[in-house]
Amino acid sequence: MTKAADLSRPQPRAGVMDIEAYVPGKSGAPGAVKVHKLSSNENPLGSSPKAIEAVRDVAARLEFYPDGSATRLRETIAEAHGLNPANIICSNGSDEILGLLAQTYLSAGDEAIITEHGFLVYKIYIQAAGGVPVTVREVEERADVDAILAAVTAKTKIVFIANPNNPTGTYLPFEEIRRLHAGLPKHVLLVLDAAYAEYVRRNDYEAGVELVGNSQNVVMTRTFSKIHGLGGVRLGWMYGPSHIIDAINRMRGPFNVNATAIEAGVAALRDRSHVERTIEHNDRWLAWLSEELPKLGLRVTPSVGNFILVHFPDEKHSAAKADAWLSERGYILRRVAAYGFPNALRMTVGTEEANRGVVAALAEFLRS
Ligand SMILES: *Cc1c(COP(=O)(O)O)cnc(C)c1O
Repeated sequence: MTKAADLSRPQPRAGVMDIEAYVPGKSGAPGAVKVHKLSSNENPLGSSPKAIEAVRDVAARLEFYPDGSATRLRETIAEAHGLNPANIICSNGSDEILGLLAQTYLSAGDEAIITEHGFLVYKIYIQAAGGVPVTVREVEERADVDAILAAVTAKTKIVFIANPNNPTGTYLPFEEIRRLHAGLPKHVLLVLDAAYAEYVRRNDYEAGVELVGNSQNVVMTRTFSKIHGLGGVRLGWMYGPSHIIDAINRMRGPFNVNATAIEAGVAALRDRSHVERTIEHNDRWLAWLSEELPKLGLRVTPSVGNFILVHFPDEKHSAAKADAWLSERGYILRRVAAYGFPNALRMTVGTEEANRGVVAALAEFLRS
């Protein structure tokens, strides 16, 4: 018997109240003298000074609507990555594109595959679209192609993979992505979320440009929030086959990318030296953290991103206690229990001061 409809006030449609809202990384540490926010994988060097200047300039003409197709931005992205601008679509953060993909390709009851420790935003958008998230196990904190392929059913419409993944920092070599693609039915959309692509220093890694270009069922999403340090303006983009761009263009808001984001994005892409400096900083300090944290007796998941997952040993020195200890000293890391890691914290690679500070504070914590 179905429950009688509650007509006393508007009701969200079925499934909406089952969604667990995304919880962003904390940004404050009450009482701490100086706060180092290492909870959202932001750029410790900040945004490009050129992007900041471009935002100042655009502030003088905010009465004008932006270009609804973000043409100059798409052309600048295309030039930087060697792509056709017609196959690029920009968005209000890459989150928006991920949501639009779910809205566009999932009907009620359709399945979308995500992985055990995958980015949580996918699950939210799958549910928001009325779809069914199907979570497959990982092996050694890394997506497993065989497990994904084994989970494909007649109802599967999308596979979401972050490569590298957040919060683990692990990645799939491109041969594995190719094998995944080869095993998927042609009507299943493979979404390659390459939010951290610029940070990866591995010869066997590719973000997915070539695979997108040579197939009809693969898209690659990118963001300005990480390497470009523009999380605050909300800007992302997708590269995909024409038929998918056409469908998403019908679903998106007409001015989904605002004027500030367009100008900041163009300027940031042109500032190669800021990107290079950011990569050098990350290389150096990711390596340092990957070495120093294990010296304290903490296991870390090998990361190729701008963050590292730190595992805590026992109840006496749990992630929750470490989090409180670090917060009191002004270091804000990310709890990742919702990602299946109740006893780990994710740390963004920060400034030298922040990185040294966290390691020193953790050494003290483990002795406590
Ligand atoms: C940070 C992140 C994004 C980017 O989100 P934006 O909406 O562009 O800020 C996308 N995917 C993953 C896996 C991320 O960690």
